[in-house]
Amino acid sequence: MAEEKPRILIVDDETFNLQFLAELLINDYDISPVKDGKKTLNLAESLLPDLIILDVVMPDMDGYTVIRALKANPKTRHIPVIFLTSLDSDKDEEKGLSLGALDYISKPFHPAIVKARVNNILELVQHRKLVEKVAMLDGLTGIPNRRAYDDRLLSEWKRACRNGEPFSLAFVDVDFFKLYNDTYGHAAGDLALKKVALTLNRILKRSSDFVARYGGEEFALILPNMPFQDAQAFVERACREICNLAMEHKASKVEKIITISIGGATATPTLNHHLADFTGHVDKILYLAKETRNRSVWSYFRQP
Ligand SMILES: [Mg+2]
Repeated sequence: MAEEKPRILIVDDETFNLQFLAELLINDYDISPVKDGKKTLNLAESLLPDLIILDVVMPDMDGYTVIRALKANPKTRHIPVIFLTSLDSDKDEEKGLSLGALDYISKPFHPAIVKARVNNILELVQHRKLVEKVAMLDGLTGIPNRRAYDDRLLSEWKRACRNGEPFSLAFVDVDFFKLYNDTYGHAAGDLALKKVALTLNRILKRSSDFVARYGGEEFALILPNMPFQDAQAFVERACREICNLAMEHKASKVEKIITISIGGATATPTLNHHLADFTGHVDKILYLAKETRNRSVWSYFRQP
């Protein structure tokens, strides 16, 4: 599959400058030329480009105003901006950088240098994205980690509060996992956790459904906008799918294969609900499920 070219928004009120820059970069990048600030703000939000090359002196809305608006909007705040301008004083450069631009190039510029700087910035941004992504993944299983779970839980909970939607959350525990490690060794234990993680991940249906490794042999399932019965059916299936892996676990006190216990709940949260009360409730339901193991228990959550 061909790799997508990074998309760059080039903003300049003069057609000649736009054409010159576009021709300079068109072979390596997907270029969108824009002639004024207002359009830039709209396009930045809809296209989410990888980089914006921004002129400063423009009629109506100047480049400084544009970057302020970009940085004030959560959707466009992270888009890197470099200024390319005829204003060449140290003061102008300082102002541009202090407003959040990653680079400041003054005209007249050397085409090769602009190319190199654009390339450097995009590499830097790519690297930063990769680091952020890796920091949110569990090293062993490759699924999202606890940190990613905390972020997702809070944002989905808030969304459910705003939209008045049902919100389902489940905690998953691998049954007698310590005994598994003691019997088969930690390498086999790691492999088993990976298989459980990948299976849980595979059966997620919608892009908003989310599974994370919570820690040790515990996983968490976030099922936004999923009503009680669907969530209940989903975790029942999750238990069956893990059984179907038929991973031998002769030390288990419930079956001779690896099984899981799941406790979950559905809430329809409002601003009066506290997320910590809800997660505490789900924790209790998991303990209930673990009393017999290899089963799921689902419940309604009502604010205490
Ligand atoms: Mg201009």
